[in-house]
Amino acid sequence: MFTFRGVDYMEIDALFTDQEKLVRQTVREFVEKEIIPHIEGWNREGKFPLHLVPLMAELGLFGANMEGYGCAGMSNVEYGLIMQELERGDSGLRSFVSVQGALVMYPIKEFGSQEQKERWLPTLQSGQAVGCFGLTEPDFGSNPGGMRTRAVKDGGDYVLNGEKAWITSGSIADVAVVWARTDEGIRGFLVEKATPGYTAKDIKGKWSLRASVTSTLSLADVRVPVTAMLPGAQGLKAPLSCLTQARYGIGWGAIGAAMACYHESLEYAKVRKQFGEKPIAGHQLVQAKFADMITEITKAQLLALQVGRLKDQGRADFAHISMLKRNNVAIALEAARSARDILGANGVADEYPIFRHLCNLESVFTYEGTHNIHTLIIGERVTGVQAYT
Ligand SMILES: Cc1cc2nc3c(=O)[nH]c(=O)nc-3n(C[C@H](O)[C@H](O)[C@H](O)COP(=O)(O)OP(=O)(O)OC[C@H]3O[C@@H](n4cnc5c(N)ncnc54)[C@H](O)[C@@H]3O)c2cc1C
Repeated sequence: MFTFRGVDYMEIDALFTDQEKLVRQTVREFVEKEIIPHIEGWNREGKFPLHLVPLMAELGLFGANMEGYGCAGMSNVEYGLIMQELERGDSGLRSFVSVQGALVMYPIKEFGSQEQKERWLPTLQSGQAVGCFGLTEPDFGSNPGGMRTRAVKDGGDYVLNGEKAWITSGSIADVAVVWARTDEGIRGFLVEKATPGYTAKDIKGKWSLRASVTSTLSLADVRVPVTAMLPGAQGLKAPLSCLTQARYGIGWGAIGAAMACYHESLEYAKVRKQFGEKPIAGHQLVQAKFADMITEITKAQLLALQVGRLKDQGRADFAHISMLKRNNVAIALEAARSARDILGANGVADEYPIFRHLCNLESVFTYEGTHNIHTLIIGERVTGVQAYT
């Protein structure tokens, strides 16, 4: 491992405020101290470091760009920098924070009753409770509108039946935001862990996001009171609005993974020698890879910053965020592949972080709207013609 000093080819740091740089530095130090020295072991064991939850809460990382209920009330650019730094550590840690804030706290804040907000937001913010977001089903991923999970009204209760797949933090969650079809369309429900009929089982054998918990949720006649329904969430646009929040953070997070791979491979190439005394960094074909990597990282940084500034002005919409997520994850994956090549055989060993980032980014490329789906969102925005079906 080589000491990380940031990646800034184009004086982009000059575009950040001192406060933004302070937030970035604080999270960078946390990642250097608490994540990087241990992450390869957790990844190998397939273990999520639950003990970091209170530490991340103390730093204000959960729902950091939200106001009230103990949230840090940071700007969206500060929030983005948090995601970037976390994902330089590991995409799994960043995924946990994305889900807790953007997919659990956000819908409760945006669509919940006063009672739901008071009950859940302070405990989720302080890490005393963990949440998960159940939208995807075994047969409905890119097209969640086809979901089969059903909630049927029965007196003062709803009875839920169905199955959710690939749910981050599922088995460690105290509360699940479950999306289900009702007679009035798709609605969201807060299902507590101990509710009879609700079970979460971990998906084993993942070669990606190994330091993150991913589960299947099963709902068999799960009875919840009407007050467990999010009163303000009606129709598919409610969960999609949560995804927009999470995708924004992912767009920043991917830069962190790309920076880690770029930095590690650059330092390696400067000291690795083949064919005499010249380091491999001195070969044109290797330099071409670095030129591509740093150009794409720089473009990704500028894109993230512009979307962040727009979001802080209330002017970023879902199609802007699709471009951010689609571009930045794709260039991060390419950077990870190039970096892996530059390390040769060492590139496949977990003595170095690159192959872990590469494997993680394969999931990030797929979740929160696949690369293809974001292509279609951008395509629809510019042509005015929908092409999903
Ligand atoms: C590690 C991990 C964690 C996850 N966490 C969560 C979570 O917390 N909560 C949650 O609800 N979900 C979660 N997901 C699920 C994720 O959101 C879905 O995997 C994703 O939406 C894609 O769905 P799918 O896997 O069913 O792929 P599919 O929808 O079956 O897609 C397969 C392929 O077909 C392509 N495709 C599909 N439709 C079209 C089309 N119209 N045009 C062109 N190409 C198309 C896709 O782009 C993709 O390449 C997670 C997934 C992973 C891997």
